[in-house]
Amino acid sequence: MLWSGWGDPAKAADLPEPIRTLLGDLLGVRPPRSEAATLGEVRLPPVALPAPVVDELRGLVGADHVRLDDETRVRHTRGKSTPDLLRMRAGDGSDAPDAVVLPACHDEVLAVLAACAAHRVAVVPFGGGTSVVGGLVASRRGFAGVIALDLARLDRLVSVDAESMVAELEPGMRAPRAERLLAAHGFTLGHFPQSFEYATLGGFAAARSSGQASAGHGRFDDMVVGMTVATPRGTLDLGRAPRSAAGPDLRQVMLGSEGAFGVITSLRLRVRPVPAERVYEGWRFASFTEGSAALRTLAQRDAAPTVLRLSDETETMIGLARPGEIGASPGGAGCLAITGYEGTSAEVSARRERATALLSELGGVPAGTEPGRAWEHGRYSAPYLRDALLAAGATVETLETAGFWSNLPRLYDAVRLSLSASLGSPLVMCHISHVYGTGASLYFTVVTAQTGDPLGQWEAAKRAANEAIARAGGTISHHHGVGRDHREAHAAEIGELGVEILRGVKDRLDPEGVLNPGVLLAAKEPAG
Ligand SMILES: Cc1cc2nc3c(=O)[nH]c(=O)nc-3n(C[C@H](O)[C@H](O)[C@H](O)COP(=O)(O)OP(=O)(O)OC[C@H]3O[C@@H](n4cnc5c(N)ncnc54)[C@H](O)[C@@H]3O)c2cc1C
Repeated sequence: MLWSGWGDPAKAADLPEPIRTLLGDLLGVRPPRSEAATLGEVRLPPVALPAPVVDELRGLVGADHVRLDDETRVRHTRGKSTPDLLRMRAGDGSDAPDAVVLPACHDEVLAVLAACAAHRVAVVPFGGGTSVVGGLVASRRGFAGVIALDLARLDRLVSVDAESMVAELEPGMRAPRAERLLAAHGFTLGHFPQSFEYATLGGFAAARSSGQASAGHGRFDDMVVGMTVATPRGTLDLGRAPRSAAGPDLRQVMLGSEGAFGVITSLRLRVRPVPAERVYEGWRFASFTEGSAALRTLAQRDAAPTVLRLSDETETMIGLARPGEIGASPGGAGCLAITGYEGTSAEVSARRERATALLSELGGVPAGTEPGRAWEHGRYSAPYLRDALLAAGATVETLETAGFWSNLPRLYDAVRLSLSASLGSPLVMCHISHVYGTGASLYFTVVTAQTGDPLGQWEAAKRAANEAIARAGGTISHHHGVGRDHREAHAAEIGELGVEILRGVKDRLDPEGVLNPGVLLAAKEPAG
């Protein structure tokens, strides 16, 4: 993974000429004044962790698995939001952990947590490092140091219960490896977020991720039937049955806890047979309003395909639904929807037939399999474009929310208006990315010319968008999570009592407050 950008450097994308022209002519983008920093130029704070603590950690996980070198620290600094990348490109490594610790099993995680609690060392659980909400930056105040607890060595497929269709996997496993290992048993998770290539199973559970096939396979939190969690107070083992009436479901308390309540060390996940057939296709609608109504009807009549998304007019025009081909061919007028069917041949035919009849009735015009093929081909490539856009002097960032169908148009307008008001004349694109019978999520992509202070420029715009979401009755996140960036908006959303409940859980599980301080909940003021 590129330390200051996204993905495999060999796959770095150059900006197609039509996009360069669009940026200059439409948005007034000019090349930035300074070059991005090199890895060696990143300014890191000195290691604050006391030497005896480093020695103790080495004793717990092995000397090779406690790393203090600059490159490893840089590679564990923050996540992959645009502000994170802008800071790295500016050579700002001020949020680097003092050390990166790589435990190999649950017991080692427990031991590291106990040592960190005893010495007041903050612990940042680290999966794939793809957080886009500041989930990997701990408050240092009042702590003897900060470690990144990298879970990469917990990456085994522990067991497959083919009868129940449940697989136990460790949390540090990246999604492609999980799919490969499960495929050998004939199974898939069906979880394909855009960060698929790098994100881990633990990160998906901790941040309540949602993938591109959520209409058919559900969100990641729907897939979790059990988990083991290490906390400074001991172990939680949750989930003896798919559903239970034995009190509140503590699995739900840990899902979305973003490393602030404990470290997930094992996941029991619902799996499905590898689909024998996959068909992706495109549909055209005259407008976003008409297309949204069609998606709603599919979801409400239980006729949704496995993949279901709808780009608004601007996103369709730019062609963002097919990132691999942006600029190569015009996106066309109206709105493009992508529908995808996965399953046995009979399931695909039956679902496709039903959805096709409904979509045609609802004003959709079939666009054939070519747009679906282009979407499938480019589904993981858009993040690579972000690096090229940043280098060209444009800021590009995404944000997402969700709401009930009756409120979706208001939410859509509110976010677009707020981004336009704070950024001048940005390009604002949106798609419906996940659908339910009762509502949907809206995923916005914003492109704007960088000012002299791109970080300040985006932070102001993001603040305004958060306020607009709250005023329009949406949730602050459908699938990116809370992290530090959404902490205040999240507190406002759940109210004081809601925050107190979460605080109570945290205080019980993590009395010293060492787990991801400042993420999800404000860090406790140090005593004395
Ligand atoms: C280009 C790009 C595209 C993305 N696309 C999507 C998308 O389509 N859908 C989506 O849902 N999200 C998406 N994301 C957001 C991100 O990938 C998800 O939030 C993902 O769940 C994070 O997984 P990770 O392994 O990288 O976790 P990390 O970023 O390493 O961690 C995320 C949070 O979880 C905590 N954590 C990690 N592992 C554990 C553990 N084992 N136990 C306890 N806490 C833990 C961390 O401390 C942190 O707070 C995208 C991000 C990027 C950069």
